[in-house]
Amino acid sequence: MLLVPCRACGHQVDTFFVTCPGCRATNPGHKMSKQQAGLSVLLIQLIVGLVLGVGVCIYAWNTV
Ligand SMILES: [Zn+2]
Repeated sequence: MLLVPCRACGHQVDTFFVTCPGCRATNPGHKMSKQQAGLSVLLIQLIVGLVLGVGVCIYAWNTV
């Protein structure tokens, strides 16, 4: 038995529950699918890369 917060309402639910007893959300113990998780990781990497790139550009611009 593993209790996790419901992805919709935060109610503590068992990972085996099909519906949340609090808000009736389906699969409350499952957060994102692997595809969605991979996509969000990719997005974060993209944002971090962009911020770093812009930061380096500004730094280079200021030192010239
Ligand atoms: Zn819920």
